Amino acid sequence: MRILLLNPPTRTNKKFIREGRCTQEQGVWATLWPPVTLATTGAVLEREGYDVRICDCPAGGMSMEKLYDTIRRFSPDCVIWSTGTPSLESDLQLAADIKEIDASIVTAVFGTHVTVMDRESLLGHPALDYVIRNEPEITVRELVRALKEGKSPENVEGLTCRDAGGEVVRAPDRPFLKNLDELPFPAWHLFAVDHYTLPLKGRRFLIVAPQRGCPFNCSFCTCQTYYGKKLRKRSVERVLQEIEHDMETFKVLDFFFWAETFVLDREYVASLCRGILERGLRIAWTCNSRVDIVDKELLDLMRRAGCWMISFGIESADQAILDGVDKGIRVEQIGPAVQAAREAGIKTAGHFIFGLPGETEQTMNKTLRLAKKLEMDIAQFYCCVPFPGSRLYDMAGEQGWIDEPDFGRFSQAEAILRLPSIEPQAVDAFRSRAYREYYSSVGAWLRVFRMFEWGGLMDMGRKFLSFLRWSG
Ligand code: SF4
Repeated sequence: MRILLLNPPTRTNKKFIREGRCTQEQGVWATLWPPVTLATTGAVLEREGYDVRICDCPAGGMSMEKLYDTIRRFSPDCVIWSTGTPSLESDLQLAADIKEIDASIVTAVFGTHVTVMDRESLLGHPALDYVIRNEPEITVRELVRALKEGKSPENVEGLTCRDAGGEVVRAPDRPFLKNLDELPFPAWHLFAVDHYTLPLKGRRFLIVAPQRGCPFNCSFCTCQTYYGKKLRKRSVERVLQEIEHDMETFKVLDFFFWAETFVLDREYVASLCRGILERGLRIAWTCNSRVDIVDKELLDLMRRAGCWMISFGIESADQAILDGVDKGIRVEQIGPAVQAAREAGIKTAGHFIFGLPGETEQTMNKTLRLAKKLEMDIAQFYCCVPFPGSRLYDMAGEQGWIDEPDFGRFSQAEAILRLPSIEPQAVDAFRSRAYREYYSSVGAWLRVFRMFEWGGLMDMGRKFLSFLRWSG
């Protein structure tokens, strides 16, 4: 069988990242991540002996028309693609386009949004055959196996589809994969690895995903919809083997350790770092963390093992807001975590969200003051978005904070919640002000400038031109 996996283009030519809990539009500064779920799914299917092709259309600049050509030429039996909330309508309409090319092609989608809105997705898009819920790899394998054997996939765990009478039916959930070591290494050989370059550095990078799941309960986050609440870890040995494989096969020395929260199990991270050092793997990597689980000793070890930047989810400087979204951190933990990373020689990035429940002008000012005081190397300011699959989405509906949702506006660059404490326009205006004020200081520019490498400047230029071309 021939299977085509896609990170699809959109009709507006906007580029989107669609990776688990992260579904967002690429901006001029942002980088596109290597889509690790597609790569792992591709590897699972190749191991089964299928003829697999993967198109990361945003990364390769592939338009809808070029994609249709590829489909005609490859003539797949099945097309499966990732979806995101802000690009949802375009993502789901693709099913009809594919059926127009060849009505016998089986169409299936995955992603957090369609996981919780599986019925709606199928009912609204008759050309869409299957919705794959939660983490997709094994469900995709079972779906394709059933198709190959001519069986009805109706009972495949984790799948929503139509029965013979056209009724939408939901098979039971598939338990999350217990042993992640069963998964093959991501099939990066099916991608043009040159498309993935680090911002500011311009060097090629790949994603390694050592673990899945997060036991925390932040109400704005959809991570548990994709990977569940329990932390599942690959063995350190297997992760090290994958790094060595990527270094050797793709000549890549830069990695992003992708996890819901990479630093969750201190001993696991420490043993991964020791493994990198013992094997003499001269790599550079970035990761994310909460502020309440890092310490100087661990950060020193991470630095020695090649960690050059750590991203902290800070969200707000107001304790009541943090408590209201169940972030589970204390404001007083933020400064010491950032300071410890700086002292270890690791660059820091901070992620802040404006417009969380309880937000006011005063609390936004408090958050901006903290961001400036922390003097992190990168600060990212987002608007709060109640993505379907998060508890905040349900809360926003119950409280009347959103009307009939227009998912195309669910981008973290636009406030959509009508909170009793603040209007969305005020949140938007404050976010713009936060960027202006943060990056108007000489210190902030110097910190960014110090991270630039020559390749990064060239790369920025290329991306900027491509961005202008794509955005018309
Ligand atoms: S710590 Fe919170 S925001 Fe981060 S992945 Fe876990 S639930 Fe999501």
